[in-house]
Amino acid sequence: MIKVEQLHKSFGTNEVLKDISLEIKKGDVVAIIGPSGSGKSTLLRCINLLETPTQGNIFIDDQNVTTINNRNMIKIREKVGMVFQHFHLFPHKTVLENLTYAPVKVKNKTKQEAVQIADELLKRVGLSEKAEAYPSRLSGGQKQRVAIARALAMEPDYLLFDEPTSALDPEMVKEVLDVMMDLAKQGMTMAVVTHEMGFARMVADKVIFMDKGQILEVAPPEEFFSHPKTDRAKDFLEKVL
Ligand code: ADP
Ligand code: MG
Repeated sequence: MIKVEQLHKSFGTNEVLKDISLEIKKGDVVAIIGPSGSGKSTLLRCINLLETPTQGNIFIDDQNVTTINNRNMIKIREKVGMVFQHFHLFPHKTVLENLTYAPVKVKNKTKQEAVQIADELLKRVGLSEKAEAYPSRLSGGQKQRVAIARALAMEPDYLLFDEPTSALDPEMVKEVLDVMMDLAKQGMTMAVVTHEMGFARMVADKVIFMDKGQILEVAPPEEFFSHPKTDRAKDFLEKVL
């Protein structure tokens, strides 16, 4: 499980996370929503050790990752996969190479093992026929499905998604959400920053609403979407729904 305790993060004098505490239990899908600039990406980046917290603790499977050495940091990064808004694929590698690179390099898989896992994952995201293609030849939706497959190739225990569909043309949103829904059904533990309220409502076990660096509400989706407690959440939902 992931546990965040009284997390603070400042950039210079700008405190962008203020006393954030939350839990993501094994098998949970947590949707993190809130206006732009509220600190959602920074929160995910702290959990994935891409940012260093100013104060507070983050535990991943009972290991305090805020006081971690480099070797353990690599292990934690293997456990916690991340999918970004802008895909971040390796442009000069084929789809297959994108999926096999880190498992061979970091997880010491043989090339053959890595290719076998990659083949299965590409099948799972419906892109077997694109194995030899370069990212530039793919649509946005295909790129994001490759990015998800690449994250899965590391066999993570947790997957963090930062607005995975926000850069996509509308007709490609569904193919990516379908893959994510499938992962959720199979029990993957996921934290998803998203503006897709339909997805949050249908798939999340818990919604976390953030504003200005703070968590204002934590509730099951039914409760959050039908009875938001704060004016800030009501206002936000009126704008996005
Ligand atoms: P969200 O993802 O909810 O839109 P962010 O976490 O990206 O919010 O940003 C929260 C605040 O932190 C914003 O005011 C943003 O400008 C600031 N911020 C984010 N990253 C940095 C950074 N690397 N350096 C300085 N300020 C940053
Ligand atoms: Mg963001």
